[in-house]
Order: sequence, then structure tokens, then C-alpha cells
Amino acid sequence: MIQQNEIIKTYGTNYKTMTRELLETAGLSEMIPSKDARIGIKPNLVAPIPASYGATTHPEIVAGIIEYLRASGFSQIVILESSWVGDKTSESLEVCGYSELLREYDVPFLDMQKDRARKIDAGGMELMICQEALALDFLINVPVLKGHCQTKVTCALKNMKGLIPNSEKRHFHAWGLHRPIAHLAAALHQDFILVDQICGDPDCEDGGNPYVTNCLMAARDPVLCDAYGASLLGYGADEIPYIIMAEELGVGSADLHKLCIRQIGHSQEEEKPAKRRRLVAIQDKVEEVDSCSACYANLVPVLLRLEEEGTLDQLGEKLAIGQGYRGKKGRLGIGNCTRCFEQYIPGCPPEIEEIDAFLREIIRKQAGSEGTDRGVQ
Ligand code: SF4
Repeated sequence: MIQQNEIIKTYGTNYKTMTRELLETAGLSEMIPSKDARIGIKPNLVAPIPASYGATTHPEIVAGIIEYLRASGFSQIVILESSWVGDKTSESLEVCGYSELLREYDVPFLDMQKDRARKIDAGGMELMICQEALALDFLINVPVLKGHCQTKVTCALKNMKGLIPNSEKRHFHAWGLHRPIAHLAAALHQDFILVDQICGDPDCEDGGNPYVTNCLMAARDPVLCDAYGASLLGYGADEIPYIIMAEELGVGSADLHKLCIRQIGHSQEEEKPAKRRRLVAIQDKVEEVDSCSACYANLVPVLLRLEEEGTLDQLGEKLAIGQGYRGKKGRLGIGNCTRCFEQYIPGCPPEIEEIDAFLREIIRKQAGSEGTDRGVQ
């Protein structure tokens, strides 16, 4: 059986077969307390974006888990998840291929956007957590290893955010994300982790720049799993505060010296470090205080576009975004939270194309006024 300090990896392109082989090797069935256990599978369906874009869990992996569990005599299986604020889980199910999967395997799906929640003492911080998640006997977490425009990395620990109500997700952002993510991990024990590292986007949680490695990883310790995942994206665990906070809360160990990696099968090509895009350049243009993921994620592609076109530097002002700007004054803002600013784009969150049009208009006016100034001189 897989040990607490182990990660087992496999590579290939037949994701369902790879999953079954990986679960056999890890000895998952020996870890589940009884054949009647209520087993929850938690994929990442953050938004209606197909897995090939690098944002969501491949449905073939979940199919492999269901087949393995059923073949091992387990029948009380549910899938549970919620998309981020701003998108309906039902739409993500359809677009990401899960509606078809549910029909084919006849497995119940529990939408955490519709579930009731209970207040729990999560290692000294009170958090609202969905009741169905708390009622499970065994939780299999199936995150995607990918970048995140606010926390840098998202994998096992942050994936649990899909098991809290939307109202609490907004609070998480207002609380700065890291601390509540760590405390959530203290309250909601992950019994087994299967990481989809097939093509996660190393920059953004909503994908668009998939980095293909065709790898799956099994782990038991979410802190070790995330510390290792962070290293694959080029970060030290100490650069991701929630990993260290979760370690301090006793959730697991971030010490990679203790990590044992086992590989089954052979990688066809050597894995290279993921190439991240120019997020540092665009982060310079943004003042972010407690912004929601969907809001920031809609802003990033627009800034990348402008940067590619060479017009980003013409934005004279920094852009303010986030709940921290509510009721505050400023020059340029993104989203309803900045409604007291001189100029802002409304929406909660505003759509990508709306932000695009808004910023282009600002740049156009800026260029016009500079032209006028030059004429005066
Ligand atoms: S405007 Fe943006 S940051 Fe503010 S609450 Fe809405 S989505 Fe979140």
C-alpha cells in the first residue's frame, strides 16, 4: 500500500487504463474502511472548460476510479464538486464531459453550489463546509496540478475549495486565500489523492496554455503532494504560504527530503520544467486586494493580449481589482468592487471581452491625449 511519504507516478495517454493500474499499485482498496463506505470523488470542474485546455480534471480518470472501485466491491460512490463563483456547476458538467460520464456509469453527482453547509472549527478558524462532503467516509481528491494567478500553484489543498458554498468562497478571497485554504485542509481530511498532471496550465487555473506531460500521480499526504507539485512548476514550498500553513496545522509534511517517488511504466520523454508565461510582467500592472479567482482570471488573458501587442505599457495607471477596494476611491478599477473609482468596468466578474474593450478604450484615449500634448509642445 502507498506510504504517507510516497508519490507514485505513471505516464501514458490511455488515461482510464493508467488510472486503474495506478490505483492497483497504490493499493487503494486496502485503505477504504469497509465495502459499505460512502466514497466521494472530488474532481476539479472549476469552470466550463474542457480538460484539454489545462483547467479541469479529465473525465477518463474519474471513469478509471469508478471502474476500479466497482471491480473491488465498492458501490456507494458519489462525485461532488462546485464550479467557481460566476459559473454554474451544471454547465461545467456538460462541457467537461461529466454529464455523459454520469449517464454511462450511473453515478450520483452532488452539486456543492446547491448543498447546505455547516460551520466547523477548522483548526482554530470557523469555516462553512458543505454537509455532503462532511458526511463522506472516504474522500478521493482528483485535482489538476496547475498554476494560479493569485496563489501561484493549485493542486490537492486548494482543490478542496469546491466543497464549500459560494458565499464562503467569497470570504476565502477576502481573507487572503492562503490561511483559509490551509485551515480547510485541517477540517476536511483527504484520504487519497490522484493528481491529473496530464496537461495542467502552469500559469492560470482556468487554463488556455496547457503543458502536456501525460502524467498521473498518486499520493496520501496533500501537503507533500503540493510541495512536490509546486517544485514541478518551479516554486519552492516556502513561496506558497498555504502549503507551509497547512504543514504547521499538522495536515502533512512539506519536507521533500523525506519524499519517495516510485514510477510505474516508463516516461516516453524526460519531463522538462513547465514554461510559465510572462505573468510577472503583467502582475506589475495590477494592484490586487482579495480578488475572486474568476475576476482575476478574466483580467489575465486581456493583459497578456495587450502585452503581446506591445500596448500594455501605454496603460498609464495600475489596475485595481478585488474586494479590498469596496467603498474606496481610485483611478482605474476592474469589477463592481471598484465602483467608487473614477473609471471602472462593471460586472461581478466582468467578462473578458468587456475588460478588453474597456482597457483598449483607456489606451486609445491615453494615446490621443499624449498626441494632443505633443502637439501643444
Ligand atoms: S467584482 Fe470581482 S473581486 Fe469583486 S466580488 Fe465581484 S468577482 Fe469578486
